[in-house]
Amino acid sequence: DTWLKDTKLVINVIPGMAECDECNELFHVIEHEGYCPNCGSFEKTILSGKDFLIREIHIPEG
Ligand SMILES: [Zn+2]
Repeated sequence: DTWLKDTKLVINVIPGMAECDECNELFHVIEHEGYCPNCGSFEKTILSGKDFLIREIHIPEG
């Protein structure tokens, strides 16, 4: 089957959320430039940085 070769798949990486190792604050890594907004620690566990979001699938007609 070759129908997939004409199909455009757009995948965006969801910016990761992280949990601070020091105070367990949940924060958005990109928005806070990698450090905890609560205590300022850079020690954190990334929670969702490897998730993917399929935004768009183009399937040619016919
Ligand atoms: Zn913290």
